[in-house]
Amino acid sequence: MMLATRFLSARIISQGRVRAGLPSPGQSRFLTISHSHGRDAYWQIVPLWKDVPVGQFLSYRWQIANTVQGTNMLSSFLSNVLPQNIPPPISNPRLLHIETRDDFVKDVLNGVAAAPMSIRLTPHTLSVIDWENPLEDPVRRQFIPLGSSLLSDHPKLSLDSLHEEADSPVPGLVHRYPDKALFLATSVCPVYCRFCTRSYAVGANTDTLSKQPQKPSRRRWDAIFAHIEKTPALTDIVVSGGDSYYLLPEHVAEIGSRLLSIPHIRRFRFASKGLAVSPSRILDRNDAWTDALLGVSSQGKRLGKQVALHTHFNHPNEITWVTRQAAQLLFEKGLVVRNQTVLLRGVNDDVATMSSLIRQLADMNIQPYYVYQGDMVRGVEDLRTPLQTILDLEQHIRGTISGFLMPSFVVDLPGGGGKRLAASYQTYDRDSGVSTFIAPGIKGGQTVYEYYDPEV
Ligand code: SF4
Repeated sequence: MMLATRFLSARIISQGRVRAGLPSPGQSRFLTISHSHGRDAYWQIVPLWKDVPVGQFLSYRWQIANTVQGTNMLSSFLSNVLPQNIPPPISNPRLLHIETRDDFVKDVLNGVAAAPMSIRLTPHTLSVIDWENPLEDPVRRQFIPLGSSLLSDHPKLSLDSLHEEADSPVPGLVHRYPDKALFLATSVCPVYCRFCTRSYAVGANTDTLSKQPQKPSRRRWDAIFAHIEKTPALTDIVVSGGDSYYLLPEHVAEIGSRLLSIPHIRRFRFASKGLAVSPSRILDRNDAWTDALLGVSSQGKRLGKQVALHTHFNHPNEITWVTRQAAQLLFEKGLVVRNQTVLLRGVNDDVATMSSLIRQLADMNIQPYYVYQGDMVRGVEDLRTPLQTILDLEQHIRGTISGFLMPSFVVDLPGGGGKRLAASYQTYDRDSGVSTFIAPGIKGGQTVYEYYDPEV
């Protein structure tokens, strides 16, 4: 009964009728940007945070301190946030036995035990999940596995499906394309996504996987910079990991300055899911990460070089007024922000959801850049879609949105062929689920790359 009352009041808050805890103008140490969208205290849907005022919630320190990490914390968070009775699943009959909170927690623990990714979730992300209907929630599906929803791995998939380690001339640098390289600066992220391509290295060890972490280290970075400096064909660097949000501000400044000082490097991007999963950090004037990034971007502009932020939204529900304010700040400061979405079954594999996501990104002045077919990585067969899904989405969405806002729908080819337009397949046998691609510009262009649809 207590819980029912709490959830009723939380639902009212989430509908924006309650404005408790919001500061009056001028009180906040956060940037205040006028905006027409409501500023509902959406995190107060979580009973643990029902009294947390906006100033506290927006603090990055508070976000870090209240991040849920590991199975023990997740289990106790779930026990606190879930209703006693769980509504039945609509889409997956294998979840029908999950009727109560205890059933749900038990199934999650089974899922986590089998997963290649450990658990880490920010308060922002935990606050946008509909805990009254957790089996169907698209954000929950991305981060919290249920043992009963897991499917057997496809026999053709591998841990490092994109063969990144084979394409690394020095540890921590993937150099596959002639002019572009991927600098893996850290192996830590603000959240851990179930479907991460780099599950072989990102995050803590799990019950099923020991990883090779890429910790920020002077020696490792020096070898990476040395390779970049002696390779004039390289003009473009992606600084990723892990997630650039987990680089110290001084590391962002250092990497940025060093890359800008290399004459043949014309552009680079910091890859971070931070804007999607902990957007208040962008607004937190007590945190130096954003200023470090903007400083590098300004420095780049003076040199005629572009510094961008590549972020990662998968569902419109991940976007709140905090996200919009953070994106607006970056837009006003002139930072180029692009988004890469991963196509995931039961999350964003329908036209309405994907269209809404693209439009909302565009309205935040975030360029919808890529929609990726799910990679063939371990433990997430339940989230992969057949190639046909991405082809259908592209076909239906093209023409309904301005061409310059239309993302490229791509497959990152297993085996290291790079990103190819999904529609550029050479063959696609829909019965066997096998599609083939070629990449004439990569490694001599002789290889035929195969992508396999999930078997169910
Ligand atoms: S934020 Fe990116 S690197 Fe980190 S777990 Fe998610 S997909 Fe992987």
